[in-house]
Amino acid sequence: MRVTVVTAIRNSLRAFNKIKPQSAMEWNSGENTAAVLLGRRNIAVQECPMPSLQPDGVLVEVISTGICGTDMHSYLSGGFGGQAITEPIVLGHESAGEVIAVGGMVTSHQVGDRVAIEPGLPCRRCRNCKDGRSNICLDLTYCGMPGSVGSLSRYFALPADMAPKIPASISWDEAGCIQPLAIGVQIGKRGDLRAHQNIAIFGCSPIGLITAAIARAYSASEIIASDNSPERVEFARTYLSPLTGKPIINHVFLSEPLSTSSVGNEERQTTSGPGASAGDNDADKAEVPIGDRKWEWAERLAAGYLREAGIDKESLDRVVETTGVEDCLMLSVALAKQGGTVLAVGLGPHQTAAIPTIALNSKEIDFKGIMHYTPSCFPDAIDLLARGVVDLEPLISVSFPLSQAQDAFEAVASGKYLKVLIKNQE
Ligand SMILES: [Zn+2]
Ligand SMILES: [Zn+2]
Repeated sequence: MRVTVVTAIRNSLRAFNKIKPQSAMEWNSGENTAAVLLGRRNIAVQECPMPSLQPDGVLVEVISTGICGTDMHSYLSGGFGGQAITEPIVLGHESAGEVIAVGGMVTSHQVGDRVAIEPGLPCRRCRNCKDGRSNICLDLTYCGMPGSVGSLSRYFALPADMAPKIPASISWDEAGCIQPLAIGVQIGKRGDLRAHQNIAIFGCSPIGLITAAIARAYSASEIIASDNSPERVEFARTYLSPLTGKPIINHVFLSEPLSTSSVGNEERQTTSGPGASAGDNDADKAEVPIGDRKWEWAERLAAGYLREAGIDKESLDRVVETTGVEDCLMLSVALAKQGGTVLAVGLGPHQTAAIPTIALNSKEIDFKGIMHYTPSCFPDAIDLLARGVVDLEPLISVSFPLSQAQDAFEAVASGKYLKVLIKNQE
């Protein structure tokens, strides 16, 4: 098995370094150790080859790595995008560490520099790259995804320009959260988050909270959020802005499941079901398609949210949906003002979800998707932390040594924690 793993990782390393010359110098100071996904809920921590230090690259001793929803999709399904893995793969794409060697052409970095690891390596040649949208590069290599190698290892090599420096004031724990913060910066760009806006966020998991922290740093007016977990709602209510010392989110709602709301339960969707009532009113209701009834429910609930938050109708400028849950997408469109923006960030459990197309059109909503981050997002994320306008420390619940990587993933799967970190050298 080990030979297969080593071969797979060596191939992946070559893929990650594909734009570099084959004659690149090698760093041969012994073995690396990495957390390798072998299958569904099956991670092995094992020795693997040291990455190749390229002439224009840096070799990083990785210190901390965050685990996120994307990693969990891979871990829990044992694959990517619905496909089971065909060969073992090193996970991880949210890392930071210290430079321990630099390539011969590198003048920007020195041994000892603290750096973040940008996990996406665009081809720099395709049409999208040339259009300045390297996040949707047609030949993107992304850490921890098939064809690449993740950063959940002791050592990692990458081009020097993909390793932005981190000031000493940023802790290693926070440094392990720079990548999701960079995604938050991209959310800010795609959603055009600006001062004086009213913003709604669905989901109080780390990416929802990071979005809120960025919106507050950008001087949003009112921020509201919702989640279906009482624990996450409780935490979100106490997540404070380092700028104001007050909660970042003005109103956090505990969302009720749709089946218990006034839209009616599953049985009432059919007239012959055991839950069907005999009244004329209920019979009429049963003829209304479930999608339309959901939309009625969404409009009612959205109006209630706005009323409770003291936000005028038609004043909710931006909605960031991080759950991927259909009901939340419905609510997002209902909440957004005429001409507002809905950013669909969340990945739901299914390929599709219903959206209210009539309202989308009549309100002329900008409904947008988002992918990864763009080149300036990492420096901007580091700047937000360095200036102390965003504080990620409260989000970090627990950390595990690399040797217990599987425990760390199980901890995330338990749903009890917000951000779980792995210490790569332990
Ligand atoms: Zn991530
Ligand atoms: Zn490209």
